[in-house]
Amino acid sequence: MPLLRSACPLDCPDACSLEVSVEGQQIVRIEGSRLNPLTEGFICAKVRRFGEHVYGPERLRFPSMRAAKKGEARFRRVSWDEALAAVADRMHTVRKTRGAEAILPLSYGGSNGLLSQDTADARLFHRLGASRLARTVCAAPSRAAATGLYGRMPGVALHDYARARLIIVWGTNPSATGIHLLPIIQKAMASGAKLVVVDPRRTPLADRADLHLALRPGTDLPVALSLIRWLFAEGRADLRFLATQATGVEELRRKADPWTFHRAAGIAGIEAAALQTLATLYAETNPAVIRCGWGPERNRNGGSAIAAILALPAVAGKFGVRGGGYTLSNSGAWKLDSLAAAGAAPPTTREINMNLLGEALLGKVEPPVDFLFVYNANPLATLPCQEKVRAGLAREDLFTVVFEQVLTDTARYADVLLPATTFLERTELSRGYGSMVLQETHAVIPPVGEARSNHEVFAELCRRLGLDKPGDPETAAELTDAILRAAPNGSALRADLDRRQLAHPETGYAPVQFMDSFPLTSDRKIHLFPPDLDQEAPGGLYGYQDDPATGEFPLALISPATSKTISSTLGQLRRGQVPLELHPTDAAARGIGDGDAVRVFNSLGEVRCPARCNSGLRPGVVFLPKGIWSHNTLNGATSNALVPDTLTDLGGGACFNDSRVQVERIAERPLTAD
Ligand code: SF4
Repeated sequence: MPLLRSACPLDCPDACSLEVSVEGQQIVRIEGSRLNPLTEGFICAKVRRFGEHVYGPERLRFPSMRAAKKGEARFRRVSWDEALAAVADRMHTVRKTRGAEAILPLSYGGSNGLLSQDTADARLFHRLGASRLARTVCAAPSRAAATGLYGRMPGVALHDYARARLIIVWGTNPSATGIHLLPIIQKAMASGAKLVVVDPRRTPLADRADLHLALRPGTDLPVALSLIRWLFAEGRADLRFLATQATGVEELRRKADPWTFHRAAGIAGIEAAALQTLATLYAETNPAVIRCGWGPERNRNGGSAIAAILALPAVAGKFGVRGGGYTLSNSGAWKLDSLAAAGAAPPTTREINMNLLGEALLGKVEPPVDFLFVYNANPLATLPCQEKVRAGLAREDLFTVVFEQVLTDTARYADVLLPATTFLERTELSRGYGSMVLQETHAVIPPVGEARSNHEVFAELCRRLGLDKPGDPETAAELTDAILRAAPNGSALRADLDRRQLAHPETGYAPVQFMDSFPLTSDRKIHLFPPDLDQEAPGGLYGYQDDPATGEFPLALISPATSKTISSTLGQLRRGQVPLELHPTDAAARGIGDGDAVRVFNSLGEVRCPARCNSGLRPGVVFLPKGIWSHNTLNGATSNALVPDTLTDLGGGACFNDSRVQVERIAERPLTAD
């Protein structure tokens, strides 16, 4: 049976290399390869069953057009020619009558590689003069903070965690996403490393940790500032390093000064002694590494929280040794810019923050959005204020194109539905954002049905609208070359890819921070208090904004990722009802038992689903997973129906963890929970 090489481009830090068994042009098995040393021959259960995504009943195989009311998901099959003619005609009309800004492309490329976003699609929308989308649903506050402080300096390679003597996993759950960090942490612990986990849930890793800080959601900022304060106050800050390598030291120190352990612990709902323990451990242990996840960014203080966490290794002098420093995203290590392949500079048209999509679709912008082109995204499942998004998508006068692999919740509202290839059916170029690999892969099976790749479809739309130009890169090979050519070390990358498909730490892609990798800021220094971030944050950088909980809605709803979906990708494979998890004391106070149907609600909406008691949650916190679809609850709403469209202090990010709710039992009946 042929064993073909591929790589996983889904929204996960690990970027696994894959071995795909194919028989009669059908995928039979997907397994991890040993080519990428981080993959080490194993992959997650999600991608092992990716064949069900490729061939499942929800797979879109042919272009189609709406044949019923929006949302009913009844379509009639049409040819590609008919579908693309309808799309191009409508784009042309909207551009002529309302202006091209009435066209909004909506994408988020977490589950596709570099060829499938910001290449031919950008060429089309840029030349058209369409509205621009601020892709802020994830990582925008973190990116703003990391760019401001370090210019997105590459972080500690995940392999190098084996060298650390202290590992702090802050706001991420590698048991669900990025599973390849687990054996490395285990190896480090087996040789005596200490583990600290900061998470409101007792995750599997928290269970094994030497110290677990179960913070109240949204309080990472005061906690990080209290550690910084202690380092300065106790003479444990590395003042010599700061004097030569950092700016903004005094400003940071002043901002941290009011945050005693006692005050921060009170707000975070933990013991002050736990902060003392962590601070001492951090000051005294080398190498020490912080794995900073994306959980701390998803609240009103998110950007400042990430900035304060990333400031810790600078203040404590943790750089300059293998296994010491921090990791956030390593995607910047490659300095690749797929926009280089677009062949069109971004226009100066208005920008719409995707976290405010509901508002935009409901007419809060001028000109109104009349044409929505959704690709690489499922906004109805993933964006805040779900009921506003749903109402917007239901607008009869909105023309919506959805270019997708499967019939998502959003696709049900399409006027034109275009079938997209998966990464196993096309050439793709993927880079990891945890693992520092770059991989070029080719189709292992032919496209399912009539599915087409993104660049084929967007290039064809460019032609139909007369926006193509001689020399535009069109094929996958041309796009790959254009992306690599624009990189500083493009020809070396090309040669490396041709020879090996990927690069790995032993070839030099595991830089040690402040030994062979330095801040990419203008003066190559750490900016601990960038003035632009201070101006952007409503309360100033590192300024704490209070918890939005009220007496009416006293519970904090969090919606972290699980091992079942990758953001909302593969959500169609999670068939059953998904429970809301709550602490037994919160359940008992409301007369709720395991399996009872409950209503979780606030002023934005409600979700009806089964309940499950979980003593691993801190009391006052309830949990409904990220990425579930409408079929996973009793009323078709998911956690995002309860998430406000307020924005983070930096980067315009989503405040998923600022959802405050109440829960009540609606029926005592055993429900089958997934
Ligand atoms: S989702 Fe992550 S762990 Fe799973 S195969 Fe892809 S990169 Fe590997």
